[in-house]
Amino acid sequence: MAAPLSQQITRSPAGEPFAPLAMGNVYGDGKFGLSFEIFPPQTSAGDDSLNRTLERLTAYRPSFVSCTYGAGGSTQARTADWCRRIQADFATTAVSHFTCVGSTKDELLTWLNAAVEAGIGNIMALRGDAAEGQDSFQAVSGGFSYANELVALIRERFPQMGIGVAGYPEKHPEADDAATDLANLKRKGDAGADAVFTQLFYHNASFFEFRDRYEQAGIDKPLVPGIMPITEFARIKRITSLCGALIPADLATQLEAVQDDKQAQFDIGVDHALAQCRELIENNVPGIHFYVLNRSRACERIMEGLDISPQ
Ligand code: FAD
Repeated sequence: MAAPLSQQITRSPAGEPFAPLAMGNVYGDGKFGLSFEIFPPQTSAGDDSLNRTLERLTAYRPSFVSCTYGAGGSTQARTADWCRRIQADFATTAVSHFTCVGSTKDELLTWLNAAVEAGIGNIMALRGDAAEGQDSFQAVSGGFSYANELVALIRERFPQMGIGVAGYPEKHPEADDAATDLANLKRKGDAGADAVFTQLFYHNASFFEFRDRYEQAGIDKPLVPGIMPITEFARIKRITSLCGALIPADLATQLEAVQDDKQAQFDIGVDHALAQCRELIENNVPGIHFYVLNRSRACERIMEGLDISPQ
């Protein structure tokens, strides 16, 4: 019989000194990768609130916490600083997101060298979106056009680095069709990524159908579903309209019916996310990556529903 989920979570060994995990070791037979994604706040009140969130979420001893890299590279220094804090103050492996936006290859290397100096051993390697004032992503002269080039650079220059990349069960919005998008995802695996983290989705059927095509395409990297619990319908509608994720009609109807009741929206959203997680786990996903939007309450409820307790 398999061990309880809580015992399958890949964790850094307890005790001093803290040793970060490498992403390549997080997933695999009998292992479950539990990860939370945060973003660097813009105010000191946001910093305080994120510190409290991290205190609560790192109590579950997740495999890692990742920190996003702002659009247009706007949070370069704060992303690296939060990754340093996640490791130093919360004894938890940090994964720094990093994009190609607005940087030449030399500038990318400068940032990567500084990240390594700061003890960051894992990167979520992304192309990124359009820089401010532009309608679509434009590579800078001497920079990269696609994430697979960034993955190849990191793998060549920093062979020990753990590398995650993004995948899109409901297709990347710019891709002409799903098959082309999948072929492009394969390039990132071939360039040396260790794991693929999906865009958020609310329809597990989209993920399962994507996983079938992913396996048929011969991509052998762990495919980790990304879950963003709905806590406020208006906010999630904005996010899904940007990234193209579909909200199932019955879920949208339930949420519309309680649009003046924030607690009811939260309850419906969290119950849906918990049901998604249970079904994904029953279907042997290698881990789950939670988009936590810097708040802990929804994930704490989900952890309780999954019988994962603070350690
Ligand atoms: P790519 O893999 O380069 O794909 C972009 C598009 O180009 C796709 O349509 C793809 O099919 C196509 N393509 C890819 N390679 C090729 C090729 N070689 N030739 C031709 N076409 C190609 N954004 C941020 O700004 N900061 C973050 O921290 C951040 N974190 C994220 C974390 C996750 C888990 C996810 C899922 C997304 C994240 N994003 C983040 C959003 C991401 O930057 C956007 O979705 C962006 O539009 C695409 O990035 P990518 O790395 O997937 O790009």
